[in-house]
Amino acid sequence: MSDSQIPGPAVNHESAPFWSAVKAGEFRIGHCPSCGRNHWYPRSFCPFCFEAGTRLVPASGRGTIYSYSVTRLSKRQHVVAYVTLAEGPTMLTNIVDCPLEAIAVGRAVRLVFKPGENGIPVPMFTLDKAAP
Ligand SMILES: [Zn+2]
Repeated sequence: MSDSQIPGPAVNHESAPFWSAVKAGEFRIGHCPSCGRNHWYPRSFCPFCFEAGTRLVPASGRGTIYSYSVTRLSKRQHVVAYVTLAEGPTMLTNIVDCPLEAIAVGRAVRLVFKPGENGIPVPMFTLDKAAP
């Protein structure tokens, strides 16, 4: 998948602060001050204790591949994956910019922003060559 074919994210009232941070080059996840847990995707109400008042907190952009699937469409191919972030939550994303044969469950990955069609960067992951 070339970068120009990445669908741009749909921004709504609840996700606007997250995408504003992304436009500033920051990757943030949801955090609940009531129960202290992090969550993905960011939302107004905590998915664990249902309290309002969640907030965005900076995330490292580091994680490991929990599971993945390779999709091949003629000559194009892309990898859809669940990545477990270093901060705890698991997110659905894409693995990009690395050879398919190097991708494996448990491999360390790091965040990369890829340009979406609407100009908003989209968080994806690539293999972290600095990690084992
Ligand atoms: Zn909570």
